[in-house]
Amino acid sequence: MNKLESHRGAAIFSTCPKCKKRNYQRYVTHIYGEGIADNVGECALPKGCGYSYTPSEHEKAVSFIPDRYLLQSLNNCKDNNLFNYLVNQFGEDKATTAMKLYSIGTSVNHPGASVFWVIDIDGKVREGKIKLFDSYTGKETKDIGTVSRIIKMKHFTHKSYLYGENLINKFPKKPVALVESEREAIVSSCKHPDYLWLSISSPGLGLLKTEETTLGKRDFIYDPKTWGV
Ligand SMILES: [Zn+2]
Repeated sequence: MNKLESHRGAAIFSTCPKCKKRNYQRYVTHIYGEGIADNVGECALPKGCGYSYTPSEHEKAVSFIPDRYLLQSLNNCKDNNLFNYLVNQFGEDKATTAMKLYSIGTSVNHPGASVFWVIDIDGKVREGKIKLFDSYTGKETKDIGTVSRIIKMKHFTHKSYLYGENLINKFPKKPVALVESEREAIVSSCKHPDYLWLSISSPGLGLLKTEETTLGKRDFIYDPKTWGV
């Protein structure tokens, strides 16, 4: 799937991260032709030092959370404060649809709290963000933390993902609208189900390059002032 960087069949060389010779070829993604990471490439012998770090080795080094944690959290949605807020605002059918669409979990250890699972475009669970909301106002009352920290995952590599990016390919025709929090994406999906609502990972920084790459050629609307809920 991924290949070494080249242009019209000719290899493109850059500086090797190990020996610093200009004999290094990065791996680029099959789809977008972008480098995967600066250290993913090879410096082939005999000219180079033999450095090699393949895309599959890189992928293994990027951690993900075992699915069982997500599955465990999908019970007890009746105890979930955000779910109860959505039921009050939009009725049980829409609330249930939103909970299922975004795989929103309910915390086992923090009564009423929601677990927002960050699932990447390949369907891998990359993080779970645990937040508590007021079931009457829908406002966030406590940011409890992340699942990776609570289950003490070793060597966990934090990367940035769009919340809901696993839905991009599932709804190829829906226009994408970006907001700045998981809660906004979910509430907006109940209000305007014709759009696919995703939230960016770093509201202060705007849309990150990696997130833009994930969106690919899809049109999107990103106007927090218009869509804020
Ligand atoms: Zn080298």
